[in-house]
Order: sequence, then C-alpha cells, then structure tokens
Amino acid sequence: MTDTSAPRSVDGHRYAALVNQPSWSPETLAVVAGRPAPGPDAPVNPPIVPASTFHAGGPFGYAREWSPTSDALEEALGALEGGSAVVFSSGMAAANAMLDLLPPGARVVAPTAVYTGVGVRLRELAEDGRIHLQTVEIDDTPSVIHACAGADLLWIESPTNPLLQEADLPACIAAAHASGARVLVDNTFATPLLQQPLTLGADVVLHSVTKGLSGHSDLLMGALVTTDAGLAERIRGRRVLLGAAPSAFDCYLALRGLRTLAVRVERSQANAREITERLAGHPAVSRVRYPGWGTIASIEIAGGPDAADRLCDSVRLWIHATSLGGVESLLERRRRWPLESAVVPENLVRLSFGIESVDDLWQDLSSSLDALT
Ligand SMILES: *Cc1c(COP(=O)(O)O)cnc(C)c1O
Repeated sequence: MTDTSAPRSVDGHRYAALVNQPSWSPETLAVVAGRPAPGPDAPVNPPIVPASTFHAGGPFGYAREWSPTSDALEEALGALEGGSAVVFSSGMAAANAMLDLLPPGARVVAPTAVYTGVGVRLRELAEDGRIHLQTVEIDDTPSVIHACAGADLLWIESPTNPLLQEADLPACIAAAHASGARVLVDNTFATPLLQQPLTLGADVVLHSVTKGLSGHSDLLMGALVTTDAGLAERIRGRRVLLGAAPSAFDCYLALRGLRTLAVRVERSQANAREITERLAGHPAVSRVRYPGWGTIASIEIAGGPDAADRLCDSVRLWIHATSLGGVESLLERRRRWPLESAVVPENLVRLSFGIESVDDLWQDLSSSLDALT
C-alpha cells in the first residue's frame, strides 16, 4: 500500500531539546516532555488547537495526519517509552491499526486471555481467514517460544487483563525475533514507569491511553510507539487512512493527566500492595492474583459469581464500573461481559486501585466482603 504520511513533523524539533536527555528519568519526562520551546511569554503548556485544517505550505495540513496538540502528546508518550508515538482515538483503534498492517494469511501468536476486545477481534480475523491465530499461555515461556516458529507477529500483554499473567519479555522477544516475527507489547497495565518493552527489544508498544496514562476516566485514546522509523510512518499512515484520530481537546486532557502519572502510579501501587496483602487472609476470597507490582489485581470470590455480584453492588466508595487506571478505585466481575474469555473464572472480580486513602478503601471493601461470609 501507499502510505500518505509525510516525514515526521518539522515541528518535532520544538520539543527535541527537552526529550533528548537520556539521563532524565521517566518520572521527570512525564512532567517535562511535550512542552513548547521556552521564550519570553511562551506558554508553559502546548495550546489546544481545534483546527481540522491548516494553511498550506507545511508538510501536513490536515488534522488526521497531525495537529499541534496531538504532536505534543506524541512527543511526551514517545519520550516515556523511548520511541516514536502515534496516538489514536482509542486503544482498540491503535490495536486495529497494527493488525491492518499484517499481510493476508499472517501468523499471529497471542495470549489465550488477552484484553477482551483484542481477543474478539483476533478471533474475527481468524474466522474470516485473514490471519492464522495461535493462542498461548503467555506465562508459559517454552510454549510461547515453540509457537513463535513461523510466526509474523507475537502479540504480548503483560501483565494480562484480567488474569495478571506475566510474560518473560526478553525470552519471548528473542524467540520471536529469531523466527523473524515482530513483537507488540500491550503495556497498558504496567505504564512506561514500571516496564519499558522497547528497551527490552520489543518492536511496538500499545497503550490504551484511556487508562493509566490519562488517568481520570474522562476520555478514550490509544497509542502505538516504536523505535522503527519506517514502521512509525506506516502506523501513522494507518491513522490517516482508517481515520482514527483523537480530538485536540482529548489530547490536551491526556497530556494534562500524564503530568501526574508518577505520583498516581506510586499511590495506586501502594494501595494495591497493601490491600492485596490484607485480602489474602479474607475468608470470602478464595484467590488473589497480584504480580507484586502494578495498580491492578483480581480476586476470586469463594461464594461464586452471585456473591461476586453482591460484592460489586454493595461497595460504596469503590465504584462498580468497567475500565481501570483512573484516580478512582473501580471493580467489576469480568464475566458479566458475554464476550469475555471463558478462561476467566466466573467469580473473578478485577480491582483497579485509585489514589484514595488505603484505610477508606479497605474499610469499604472488607465490610462488603464480610457481609458475604
Ligand atoms: C482497555 C484496554 C484496551 C483497549 O483500549 P480502549 O481505549 O478501551 O479502546 C487494550 N488493552 C488493554 C490491556 C486494555 O485494558
């Protein structure tokens, strides 16, 4: 196909002075990357530019390709993951852009329990005969390595949603590359503060920016980030031609949310650690899935799916809602969704830890759990 995207923004240099600072930590980059160049009375934050079209003479000219506001967000996301970022109107739009680049009949290896929307989409493409799909337990490294032979794309999610399985990223990436396969890592659960797959050799990182990166449950957005300049242009071409560009307002909100990523992740992770430890001894909980890090956990309710539903209906501080990664703590029984994978237990409740007081969160959750026993 012909990609319509032009070379990287000429305006990219505006931020280069800030992001080409390899010594700066991701916590700092989340705050400083993507700001306009300094100067007397220059704004500290990038402007929201609500324009679909731009005066002729530049390399772009139309907002499906580029806008000053999305450019700033892309600079920041690229700096955090260590590559070139392209933002999309949702995480699923980003996922589909990547899948759209596969040649007909491509062999794709993916986790058995991958994010629901991605799993359904992969199965659709396989049933339509457009790809060959092989699913694997992503935490079973020997079977991932075995499945990589002859593959075109290894799709990794780690930790997985909602089973919290962890992949051995270096081993899986090396095996995929040895077979000539590309590797995508969905890094939504970890965020670039806790895991940077591109530095481990992955070709592409996927984010649902909807979740932790924007962090306030007030927008939908996705991103793909890669170190491969040619691939980045092909990805940008997918956004242009599939039409999945985010609005300038949402890019502004996402960048504003991103500024506090480090403190939000630190607090959410501390809450997750503390509460999963306390949950381990609770008689209403038959299993706690928590990798020991991150802001998401899943618990299995001893009383079964009905008891899990009663838990979700009785909490008062926790919010019974789907999604994750926001400042507010959310929980839901994943199998309430008909399309959720059958490998997810019926009694599994996913917990997304927000930044509220740990004692208030525990008081609310534990009193609802106590009522089940
Ligand atoms: C939510 C999610 C997605 C999809 O992102 P949307 O922004 O909802 O389209 C993809 N992967 C993971 C791991 C997710 O949690």
